[in-house]
Amino acid sequence: MKEEQREAFKRSKALVTRTCELNGIARAVVQTTPIAYGLYGLYLRAEKLILVHVTPRTPSVCTECREDVSLESTVAHELGHHLDEELFLRRSFPCGERVFNYEPNAGEALAESIRLFIIAPERFQWLNKRIRV
Ligand SMILES: [Zn+2]
Repeated sequence: MKEEQREAFKRSKALVTRTCELNGIARAVVQTTPIAYGLYGLYLRAEKLILVHVTPRTPSVCTECREDVSLESTVAHELGHHLDEELFLRRSFPCGERVFNYEPNAGEALAESIRLFIIAPERFQWLNKRIRV
């Protein structure tokens, strides 16, 4: 892992701890894994475990889909799955029409929505004060 990845991993772990505390839910554990599983990240529900695959060559943008697959963005997506599991969010999530490239089901649509909300909350707070849609 490169130094900047180590720093991003530390920030991501702190984000997960803080988010779990703020929402009063069980804490998820974040670990790196040497196994790619064909993915950048993985959430293991039963273990409340967020796994991220990081190598010095891991890109921050997917070369195929151009999505943000940085370590922090990946952890934010997997944290979305944890929040969903702990708070039963999917039951009332207004999934609607497809918005993201990676949205094969409601759970992934929710995780992607939470990812955006986590990595740029100030944008949503700013917008929420100024416009109604
Ligand atoms: Zn996912």
